[in-house]
Amino acid sequence: MRLTVIGTGYLGLTHAVCMAELGHEVIGLDTDAKKVAQIAAGETPFFEPGLEALLRKNLDAGRLRLTTSYGEAAEFGDIHFLCVGTPQAADGSADMSHVHSAVDGLSPHLSSACLVVGKSTVPVGTARKLIARIRSRAPAKDKVEIAWNPEFLREGFAIQDSLSPDRLVFGAMSDRPADLLRQVYASPIASGTPSLIMDLETAELVKVSANAFLATKISFINAMAEVCEKVGADVVRLAEALGRDERIGRRFLAPGLGFGGGCLPKDIRAFRSSAEELGVDSLVNLLGEVDAINLNRRSRVVDLARKAVGGKLTGRRIGVLGLAFKPGSDDVRDSPSLHVCGLLMHESAVVTAHDPAALNAAARIRPDLRYADTISKAAEGADVVLHLTEWSEYQAIDPAMLAAVVARRNIIDARCALDGQLWRSAGWAFQVLGRQ
Ligand code: NAD
Repeated sequence: MRLTVIGTGYLGLTHAVCMAELGHEVIGLDTDAKKVAQIAAGETPFFEPGLEALLRKNLDAGRLRLTTSYGEAAEFGDIHFLCVGTPQAADGSADMSHVHSAVDGLSPHLSSACLVVGKSTVPVGTARKLIARIRSRAPAKDKVEIAWNPEFLREGFAIQDSLSPDRLVFGAMSDRPADLLRQVYASPIASGTPSLIMDLETAELVKVSANAFLATKISFINAMAEVCEKVGADVVRLAEALGRDERIGRRFLAPGLGFGGGCLPKDIRAFRSSAEELGVDSLVNLLGEVDAINLNRRSRVVDLARKAVGGKLTGRRIGVLGLAFKPGSDDVRDSPSLHVCGLLMHESAVVTAHDPAALNAAARIRPDLRYADTISKAAEGADVVLHLTEWSEYQAIDPAMLAAVVARRNIIDARCALDGQLWRSAGWAFQVLGRQ
C-alpha cells in the first residue's frame, strides 16, 4: 500500500520506517527541512535502538523516501498518517496548532478518495472536528475519510512496539476505514495482534486514559514512598509485595523520581483540561493529584540534597548522574532530572551532570548547566552526588573509586536502583527515596 506519514519525529519516523519494513511504500513528510535532509541521508535525529539501521535498510530498498511537499505526499498516498506533535499549551491543554497546520497543508491537495488516520495523542472529539475541517478544504470533499489509530509505542522499545504491538485500536465511523487499516497492519494481525474496532471518540480516549492510568500507578507508589519515609518503612519491598498480586501487577510500580518525558506529563494535563471542559470534576481532581505527587518527588530530592550539605545549597557542588527522562533514551522533554538540576541551580548550587546519551539534547535546553562526559568528571569535587536516571552503568559504579574524586561521600538515590549496602560499606552517606 502507498502510505504517507506526516511529522517525522519520534512517533512518525518510527512509524514510517516500520511501515516500510512491513513492505509498504512510504513517504515521510516533515516541515523541518533540516530534519528531512538528515533522515533522507540515513541518520535518525534522536537515539532509538535499532532505528537507524532499519531506516537505512528501507531507504536503500527504495520503500521509504522523505519530502517537505504536501502536494507530493497527497498525490502519492492512499492513506495519510498524522503523527505531528501535540505539545502542552500554556494553560495545560493540548496545543493543536501542529495538527491543524498539517491538515490545512494536506487538505487542498486531496483530490481523490483517501483516508486520513490520526496517530497523535489528542483530546477526545478531535477526529470529528478534523474531518469537517478537511472536507471543507479538500477538492475530494466527502471522499476523504478519517480514522483514529492511537499509538502506544514506548521510547527505547519503539521498533518492537510498532512491528508487534500488544493491541491495535482502530476508531472509525464506518467499515471501510477499519478494513483499510486491517490491510495496513495485515502482518502483525496475522501474527496474533488483536485489532479492536470502535468509534472515533472511544479510540481517542483509549490513549489518554491508558496514559492517565499508568501515571496514576506511578504516583500511587510514590505517595506510598512518602508514607514509608514518615514511618521508616521500605517502599521497594512494599512495591515488590504489592506487584506480586496479579490484579495489581509489577509494571509501572517502581518508586522513585516519578514520570517525565514527552508523553505522560503533557497527556495527563491535557486530559485534565478536557475533563474540566466536560465538567468531570472527579477526573480533574484525580489527575491534579497525580501530577502534584509526581512533582513533589523532585522537590523532595532537593530537600535531601540540602540536608546532606547541612543547610544551604549556595556554592555547593552537585554531581548529577542521568539527564534523560528514562534510561535507554536521549529524550529530555519534561525530564525529572533536568527539573531537579534547575531547582538546584535556582538555589545557586554548582551542578555538573553526566548522561550516557542525553548530553547534547540537554545542552540544547539548558546551556547554563555544566556537562561532563564521564561519571568521574561529574562527581569531581562534589559535596553530593544525585542518581537521577537509572542507567545500568550507574549501578555498576564502584563506590570506592568514586569516593576518590568527590569532596564528600554523600549520595542520594532518587531511583531506588543502587545497592545501599555497597555504598554505605564504602563509607558513603547513602539516602534513598522511600526507604532507609
Ligand atoms: P516530535 O516533536 O518528536 O515530532 C513531531 C514532528 O512533527 C516534528 O518533526 C515536527 O517538525 C513535525 N511537524 C510539526 N508540524 C508539522 C506540520 N504542520 N507538518 C508536518 N510536520 C510537522 O513528537 P512525537 O514524540 O513524535 O509525538 C507526536 C505525537 O505522538 C504526539 O501527539 C505524542 O503525544 C504522540 N505519541 C508520542 C509517543 C512517543 O513515544 N514519542 C508515543 C505515543 C504517542
